[in-house]
Amino acid sequence: MSENSSFPADGPDVRREIIETARALSRLGLTKGTSGNVSARINSGFLVTPSGTPYEDLREDKIVAMDLDGCYRGDVLPSSEWRMHLDFYLAKPACGAVVHCHSPRATALACHRRGIPAFHYMVALAGGDRIECADYATFGTRALSEAMAAALGERNACLLANHGQIAGGPTLGKALSVAEGVEDLADQYLSALTLGDPVILDATEMANILKKFKSYGKQTNELEDGQAAAFELPKRVG
Ligand code: 13P
Ligand code: ZN
Repeated sequence: MSENSSFPADGPDVRREIIETARALSRLGLTKGTSGNVSARINSGFLVTPSGTPYEDLREDKIVAMDLDGCYRGDVLPSSEWRMHLDFYLAKPACGAVVHCHSPRATALACHRRGIPAFHYMVALAGGDRIECADYATFGTRALSEAMAAALGERNACLLANHGQIAGGPTLGKALSVAEGVEDLADQYLSALTLGDPVILDATEMANILKKFKSYGKQTNELEDGQAAAFELPKRVG
């Protein structure tokens, strides 16, 4: 498989960053024990956490290199969910990192096989107007990866029935923050459900939000023509 130079080469920096991201999952309460896994894209494929290894035992040489044909190098077995990571990258050429975890509130919702509708505008953080829950399949199988791909569609996160969630982004930091955001939304949605069914934002409003998200966080000199108007910006006087 040919090299993709828009991603970094394998090396200690990216391996360390994967370990730091995996440990952040535990620190942030997004996963426990050996549940979950983390990967980052490199120019020859991707690097992924090893299978069944406590996060505190991770070392740079235990991170496993895989190519985009699904082959691995070295003595250590890759995460049992390597295929979900691979299929995420194959479906999304700009994706640079993937995080899978069993975060408690997203998992609770996924055990009811319920996705997260637009009860809050922040569902747009996954790139669509709702976050789907993938059909159930056994962990570490091709069937699970296919269910994930179907639930993702154009989005960059989904829940996994009776299992957890998976999220991607251009960098490890962004993928982690999408996973955190999904957990936050699941928490808020479960709270909102205690009073009955919350009001769901309609498709027109969510299309408006998705448009705003494209320019949210940018400075005026970074905005494309017409994007500033969506923000009702205050008048600059100095
Ligand atoms: P691995 O330890 O093989 O990465 O598996 C953890 C997990 O979450 C399986 O779904
Ligand atoms: Zn899992």
